[in-house]
Amino acid sequence: MEVKLAETRGFCFGVEDAIELTEQSLDESGPDRLVALGPVIHNKQVVQRLERKGLNQSGDIETVRAGDTVLIRSHGASPETFRRANERNLNVIDATCVLVKRAQNVVRQLHEEGYKVIMIGDPDHPEVRGVVGYAPDVLVIDKGDDLEEKIPYRERLGIVAQTTHAPSHVAEMIGKIAGRPFRELKIVNTLCLEVTRRQEAAVSLCADVDVMFVLGGLHSANTRELARLCRDEGSETHHVETWDDFDPAMVAGKTTAGVTAGASTPEFVIDAFVQNLRGI
Ligand code: SF4
Repeated sequence: MEVKLAETRGFCFGVEDAIELTEQSLDESGPDRLVALGPVIHNKQVVQRLERKGLNQSGDIETVRAGDTVLIRSHGASPETFRRANERNLNVIDATCVLVKRAQNVVRQLHEEGYKVIMIGDPDHPEVRGVVGYAPDVLVIDKGDDLEEKIPYRERLGIVAQTTHAPSHVAEMIGKIAGRPFRELKIVNTLCLEVTRRQEAAVSLCADVDVMFVLGGLHSANTRELARLCRDEGSETHHVETWDDFDPAMVAGKTTAGVTAGASTPEFVIDAFVQNLRGI
């Protein structure tokens, strides 16, 4: 099988930094004393490797033992989480990606400037849950929402977006918001260029192949977005975590496959998949 790789794919700098910081902190704290608040990144293989080195995981800061170190993952956390860690005298290692930190600061600043802050994003995504904590009453809107009901009438609106969203989707949402009566609209681009580059590379590869494989965690927002964009291009697309999810029926009658990977997918997963696929 001929296999073509997307020009930009796999680990971004934010994920690389978070993993490096986790490994350094594990060396310093020793096994079983470092607790990540949720998966460090949305990739099972990497998380399992870190857990074998002694990383623990908890979704609730209240369950972390006194004296342990809490790791804030690349998705960031709300100010409330930092406050609780401080009150409980927990050590904190902050692996929040600089671009997520920027989105948090932008939200705080927009609120201080008197804007009603609107975040275009998935309200259940950990990045969004953290960012909305940086100003009171941030309104989170997603594609299926009824904007007529949600967007306040003739307000000063300040808009940001989840870092992993596609520019086309954000532009569409901004167009809908602008269609409502508003007094002033201030848009700050909080999209991650690392994600945008992976999206553009994946979309351009779609035209050259019979089938697309998008590698990465099934819960990874940026990987799911890659798969969605490839499907929107009309490509038969399979979102798989590793070679274990491969089924020969996926390439039946096909001669050329395209491979891309989300920002949290390690190179060893991509390499193994490509080698196996080329062997067919
Ligand atoms: S995808 Fe972008 S925002 Fe997310 S961790 Fe990577 S660099 Fe940071």
